[in-house]
Amino acid sequence: MIIIMERDATVENINAVTGLLKEHGFQVIVHEGDVHTVIDALGDKTTLSANQIDAMDGVKKIKFIREPFRLASRDRKQEDTIIEFSNGVKIGGANRPVAMVGPCSVEDNFEGLLEVAVAAKELGCEFLRGGAFKPRTSPYDFDGLGEKGLKYLAKAKEETGLLVVTELMDSEDLDLVYKYADIIQIGARNMQNFKLLKAVGKCDKPIILKRGPASTIREFLLAAEHIMYNGNENVILCERGLKSFDSAFTRNLLDISAIPVIKKYSHLPIIVDPSHGTGQRYLIEPMAKAGLVVGADGVMVEVHHNPARALSDGKQSLSIPQFKEVFTRINNLIDTLHLEKSMSIPNVE
Ligand code: PEP
Ligand code: MN
Repeated sequence: MIIIMERDATVENINAVTGLLKEHGFQVIVHEGDVHTVIDALGDKTTLSANQIDAMDGVKKIKFIREPFRLASRDRKQEDTIIEFSNGVKIGGANRPVAMVGPCSVEDNFEGLLEVAVAAKELGCEFLRGGAFKPRTSPYDFDGLGEKGLKYLAKAKEETGLLVVTELMDSEDLDLVYKYADIIQIGARNMQNFKLLKAVGKCDKPIILKRGPASTIREFLLAAEHIMYNGNENVILCERGLKSFDSAFTRNLLDISAIPVIKKYSHLPIIVDPSHGTGQRYLIEPMAKAGLVVGADGVMVEVHHNPARALSDGKQSLSIPQFKEVFTRINNLIDTLHLEKSMSIPNVE
């Protein structure tokens, strides 16, 4: 890190900073400028927090050379992380982008869920998504079927072979969700629920971490870092849109540029969720395609057997006929992109 001292920092202030850095094993070089003294400090920040230095008298500003996320960083691991499932499906790297589709909430209508799952299977999707524990803005809204919903997902998996993605909201339910999920989803609202991140960090299931609606990319990657730091390196990031000043036409502002930015700075796979990202059914296709074109490793899309009657997020869900039409075109794009990707990256696996 580089520490810039205040114009009026005293020699004692400078010595106190360099002394503390040296105590913690940092290599220190002091540059005395005409106005500011700048201290170059090279070392391991795990024993000395930058906040401690920042709090010292005479310190103006600290600049970091390395990103604060380490395990998630490309500096540590240059090759893409690839997450592999028992049935051979892989997410990340040069593998074919995957599709995770299904209703927002698993509702008390197994036939409806199965209809979606069968259509998903027919279209080559790999994952069935659906929430049995739903974070809802209002306490009066449907908040999920709990274990009954998980059982419906398991039954649909049994009939179609699709892998299951479902949300965990509370570490108390981890054992239960673990039993049914192939991927455990941490929702956007829980992106910085550090206790929950720690709990899933200690389990051995892949995790989808959704970006918080008001989180920076750095905060997003630091949330992934919490999971990895606790032992679970199988993290799939999901860009699902940010709160913005303009909600007249879209629910959120889907940050498409976050995908190539994250690809540059992290080795973790990232998928795009245009349903929550826009809140509008008609925007699912263009924004899914946009995400794939800029490098997403998969898409997550809400599909419901009867969106007009959905208990949550019907407006951003495709009906089954719409899903079939849209995914036929998305699959064509995925095939083209996958072909290009596998031709341009030799020996990726
Ligand atoms: C969901 O995937 O249904 C969901 C609640 O998403 P998010 O956490 O992104 O709002
Ligand atoms: Mn939803």
